[in-house]
Amino acid sequence: MTFKTAAVALAIGTSWLAFGAAAQTVGISMPTQSSARWIDDGNNMVRQFQEAGYETTLQYAEDDIPNQLAQVENMISQGVDVLVIAAIDGTTLSNALANAAASDIPVIAYDRLIRDTPDVDYYATFDNFSVGVAQATSLVAGLEERFPDVQPWNVELFGGSPDDNNAYFFYDGAMSILQPLIDEGRIAIPSGQMGMDTVGTLRWDGSAAQARMDNLLSANYTQATVHGVLSPYDGLSIGILSSLKGVGYGSGDQTMPIVTGQDAEVQSVKSIRAGEQYSTVFKDTRELARVTVGMVDAMLKGTEPEVNDTETYDNGVKVVPSFLLEPVGVDESNWEQVLIDSGYYTAEQLQ
Ligand code: BGC
Repeated sequence: MTFKTAAVALAIGTSWLAFGAAAQTVGISMPTQSSARWIDDGNNMVRQFQEAGYETTLQYAEDDIPNQLAQVENMISQGVDVLVIAAIDGTTLSNALANAAASDIPVIAYDRLIRDTPDVDYYATFDNFSVGVAQATSLVAGLEERFPDVQPWNVELFGGSPDDNNAYFFYDGAMSILQPLIDEGRIAIPSGQMGMDTVGTLRWDGSAAQARMDNLLSANYTQATVHGVLSPYDGLSIGILSSLKGVGYGSGDQTMPIVTGQDAEVQSVKSIRAGEQYSTVFKDTRELARVTVGMVDAMLKGTEPEVNDTETYDNGVKVVPSFLLEPVGVDESNWEQVLIDSGYYTAEQLQ
């Protein structure tokens, strides 16, 4: 081998080495930092992807749909190797994802299903119907415990954001428990407001929930007492509780109604400890990150990601193969065991 060919061989060898060593990049698009759970999701994914040898680019869209679209499009043009997206509005990404598909960039829907597109490969989430079942089961247990002699219990219903596929699963799961009790006359809905069209809360906005609760109270409860509120998310529960406290519930002889929630956010766990919010549903974002990293790793290595559901999540174009984790109901009786013993929070954080 001449000196020149040896040098070329060395150069080729080195560039292949460099190529082989270059980490692949995961583009992570999250909806908002206004809720702590999404901050945890982002941080957990970045840490776990890096531990698995990937680079990451993480962006939050602050609940602004065009912003999320622009961020995803940028990640595609920067040439990320895979996209992980928790959509703000699950129906608005079809064009961007067609571009991703054209560039052979696989896509994972994270926690929220991406709808109306063939260009989503896998879905990592929790059993969203079970979340609603857990919320309603806890609501009924709370009503039995706090208002044993009342029949019917007066309950109002809140739904999540109508552009989030999960909101329908939460509502349907909850109604699978509540509707039979409504039919039996054990639960009344004095406002008559039912169905996601009526009770949904756009963008999961806590102040919108507070305003709606104010209206429900002034229109239906000047003579009657509210005993329970189905709330699908801690951020809404905070608004609902402010409204209730504003008219005197939780003080004097006005017993606080049973109010549910979701995500075990710090402020709401403190509220449970203080006897205000009754319960929440914990979704371990460390586990969701672990499942997502596993899916990405399998796809990029050309093997099959592990799924446990190939029937439930039809996005309007196809059934997206999914991995569903189990949510855990949390109330006064088990918050320490579920949230502190598992290392998710420190005792100090929940003081
Ligand atoms: C998530 C919930 C969260 C809600 C509001 C849903 O898609 O599954 O965990 O409470 O969005 O952020």
